[in-house]
Amino acid sequence: MAFLFAGAFAGLIAAGAFRPEGRVLAWPALVALALWGLLFTRAAWLRFREERDVADTAPAASERTLRFLLLPRLRLDLEIGALLLVLTLALIEFTGGARSPLHPTLYVLVAFFVSFYPRLLGLALTLAAAALDAALVLVRFGPDRELLLVHGVFIVFFAALNLVFTHTEIFRLRHRGETRLRHALERVREAARDFRLTEAPAPTPSMVPPPSVSGAPGERVSAVPGADRRTRDPLSGTVAAVHQIQETLFDTLELLRQSLSLRTCVVLVVDRERSTLKIAEIATEAEEIDVGPFGAADGVAGAAMRAGAPLTMGNLRPDYRGLPYYRGPLRARSFMAVPFRDGEEWRGVLVADRTDPDAFGDRERGILVRAAERVARTIQNERAFLQLERTKREQGQLLTASERLSGAIREDDVVEAALEAARGLAAIDFGAVVACDDRTKHFVVLRAEGERAEELGRLSFEDNQSLVAIAARTRHYLPYRGDFDDANQAVFERKGELRGMNSLLVLPLVVQEKTTGALVVAARRRGAFREDVRPLLQVLANQLATSLLNARMVRRLAEMATTDGLTGLANRRVFDAELERHVKSAERYRKPLSLVMCDIDFFKRVNDTHGHKVGDEVLRGFAQVLLACKRDLDVVARYGGEEFAILCENTDTAGAKLLAERVRRELIQRPFAAEAGVFRVTCSLGVATFPVHAQNREDLVRLADEALYRAKHSGRNRTVTA
Ligand code: GH3
Ligand code: MG
Ligand code: MG
Repeated sequence: MAFLFAGAFAGLIAAGAFRPEGRVLAWPALVALALWGLLFTRAAWLRFREERDVADTAPAASERTLRFLLLPRLRLDLEIGALLLVLTLALIEFTGGARSPLHPTLYVLVAFFVSFYPRLLGLALTLAAAALDAALVLVRFGPDRELLLVHGVFIVFFAALNLVFTHTEIFRLRHRGETRLRHALERVREAARDFRLTEAPAPTPSMVPPPSVSGAPGERVSAVPGADRRTRDPLSGTVAAVHQIQETLFDTLELLRQSLSLRTCVVLVVDRERSTLKIAEIATEAEEIDVGPFGAADGVAGAAMRAGAPLTMGNLRPDYRGLPYYRGPLRARSFMAVPFRDGEEWRGVLVADRTDPDAFGDRERGILVRAAERVARTIQNERAFLQLERTKREQGQLLTASERLSGAIREDDVVEAALEAARGLAAIDFGAVVACDDRTKHFVVLRAEGERAEELGRLSFEDNQSLVAIAARTRHYLPYRGDFDDANQAVFERKGELRGMNSLLVLPLVVQEKTTGALVVAARRRGAFREDVRPLLQVLANQLATSLLNARMVRRLAEMATTDGLTGLANRRVFDAELERHVKSAERYRKPLSLVMCDIDFFKRVNDTHGHKVGDEVLRGFAQVLLACKRDLDVVARYGGEEFAILCENTDTAGAKLLAERVRRELIQRPFAAEAGVFRVTCSLGVATFPVHAQNREDLVRLADEALYRAKHSGRNRTVTA
């Protein structure tokens, strides 16, 4: 409606209705303007209401429903855009057409379209603007090439410029967010390293919410609620541990500062390389603090650690440089530095200073030594706790995985459970499970998740020099230490399959000395599968191997129960069940159902002349003929011995007879090979139909059998109907 109107409006403009004749507008133009106002108000109002509706529904809506909610919105946006466009053109036309001083408004409108509309809509509206503008120029000024060119260039230029601006701005905002997140994470990691919380490198997943840790010394941050600390993502444990240490340290230092009237009380720790000292926590009333880091060997801290005993000094001069955490002239006049260790190594120093020139005696020494021990213990405890939590979490994940794996009966479920467990154990960006035939070394990717999963998930390949094939042969994980170079190593078939992955682990699935497949995991970050996670993944691979084997066994059992081993057709049991089901459904929907019974003629003779093996071959051949002739919905079964049945849904006697004859002719044409030479066999068939001949399934089978019997007795190699 609005689009039609916009089209008509444009036509009106082109017809010259908006060209001023003595400063007044002709009545069609006035009517059009009034209509324009109505339609625009309606569209704007509906659009406003849509916005509210989406806001109401969106929180609960899924991605998919949201799309439907947004569709009418897009339509309205397009309507509004079209209406704005024609009004602008009318305005330009009124003020002098293409040479109007108001003509640049069109460029502003195009800029608006490009910036605020989804890209395609913006493009469509821009194109419409360009086309209409050109049309108006043509109508009023004739084919003025130069004018047309200038307008076209300007429209394209404005559209492109705005596109670039908008996208640059979006990119800039996103980049800024990412940088901030990275810095926040980096701070926590650094603190964790300082406290040596990450003796075993903690997984650093790529998607962690920004932790709300403030590193500013002395500032107190409310702790993560105790109940769920360290339970979710791997880094959150570290975040909480860093937090907890800083909290406890600050409490201790502040208590010391107040009770011993200190100016500053600070804990300095050395880094792993023992080259620098950093402030772990500080409680101070001073402003002139230097936050470091400082050289590990310098000052009183280095001296105290070298001495391995508390160090104290008084009557300090303002130019004394031994207390590295102060800037400018020294105001403290005395200090005591107490080193503390973590295991064998000196890990840091607790330093306390006062403005009093001669202040640290035995009492203070006793208190500070005990406090330093406490500081060391806090760090140790937290690390031990963190490691315990990590182990507990890993064991919990393995346990869950193990339960799910052993609970899964279908191969698909097993594979899915394994990949889910792998994701839980390590931060992976790609995972796949490959099945392998131990004898033929034929590989099939059962499932892949992550990058290029679609493509790689359908792969099947023969024995080659890929990591999967080598791991399957050697029954040893690959590559060494999990370091991966995709340009030079093929995972499945060829190099470059997992671009961008720097870590990889191919774990062979081995049960009873046989390789049944491989678990493949990959990650972008380097060193993702070192000694800390590899054993876990190996345990997972072992469980996966067993579960996969079980699932296959279950599948084979199920197949054995429903199919005939010789021909692969449905067996008698399945046939009986299908017959019951089909008769019921034929009854309910009043549709015919036909049964064709087939029996090979003189089959005993085949066995007697050519042997049982050849007899079996004939049975297989006959099964193939039946499968080739049957239609999609027909059920073919081996009814017994050399008797077969075809159940034809929604088929009357005539149709079933056609099928039977086709089977008969096909069989005659099929040659069978024996030592004595090539021979052929024939078959007889009997057809019965529900409900014409029989009204229940027992009668249906009986009548088809009787028809078959008559076919045999009237000379064989024919079809007889009940
Ligand atoms: P007719 O034309 O009257 O059907 O003659 P026929 O020789 O085919 O007679 P009948 O149907 O009674 O013969 C069934 C024979 O099929 C008996 C048995 O030795 C043979 N047979 C049944 N099952 C198998 C099988 O799995 N493999 C082989 N090789 N022979 C089978
Ligand atoms: Mg027979
Ligand atoms: Mg028979």
